[in-house]
Amino acid sequence: MINLKALLKEISSIKPGVRLIAVSKNVTSAEVLALHAQGQLEYGENRVQEMAKKQSEISAALDLKWHMIGRLQNNKINQLISLRPTLWQSCDSLERAHEVDKRLNYKLDTLLQINSANEDTKQGVLPSNAIETYLKIQELCPNINLKGIMSIGAHSDDEKEIQKSFELSYKIYEELKPHGAQICSMGMSSDFKLAIKCGSNMIRLGTILYV
Ligand SMILES: *Cc1c(COP(=O)(O)O)cnc(C)c1O
Repeated sequence: MINLKALLKEISSIKPGVRLIAVSKNVTSAEVLALHAQGQLEYGENRVQEMAKKQSEISAALDLKWHMIGRLQNNKINQLISLRPTLWQSCDSLERAHEVDKRLNYKLDTLLQINSANEDTKQGVLPSNAIETYLKIQELCPNINLKGIMSIGAHSDDEKEIQKSFELSYKIYEELKPHGAQICSMGMSSDFKLAIKCGSNMIRLGTILYV
């Protein structure tokens, strides 16, 4: 398990104020508790069932914050809503936003996922549609409280390609700032330093936390 304090110091030496989400999708509740013992409060899961399982295994008194970061199937929406996530990071279309909005009985903080590298394997709106979709969700989905954007860096060994995808996401984020965007979620274990340099203020780290 990583030394969290040292990692946070490294992150803030690149840029202060970056929020760390510990992705726990591949680890057990015991590992979440070990990280919590070092002070980590926010966790990311990509499956609703797994979020529910960990919430049931871990005392609510610890007051952990859960982020949904994966593809949301329509038949899992009600369960996700009942788990009261802190942030739904993976809203990937106006249609999905609408499906969640109509079932919500509270306002859910949400990020629009952008497929900045234009990859078939990835969820998210294409960069060319991002601004329009963001504004449409704001107009048509009163319970979806958009707070910014989330993006996964290009799947490439070429750092230039990854950088290009981060720069494109950041540009969209900047255009959305006048419309209330505050969160630019990008950067994973392999590329978080580059993501922060490109403007990220929220990183989602899994693998490197548990080695
Ligand atoms: C798994 C996952 C992460 C963390 O990836 P690592 O490479 O393990 O750091 C971040 N974001 C999303 C959307 C993920 O699915």
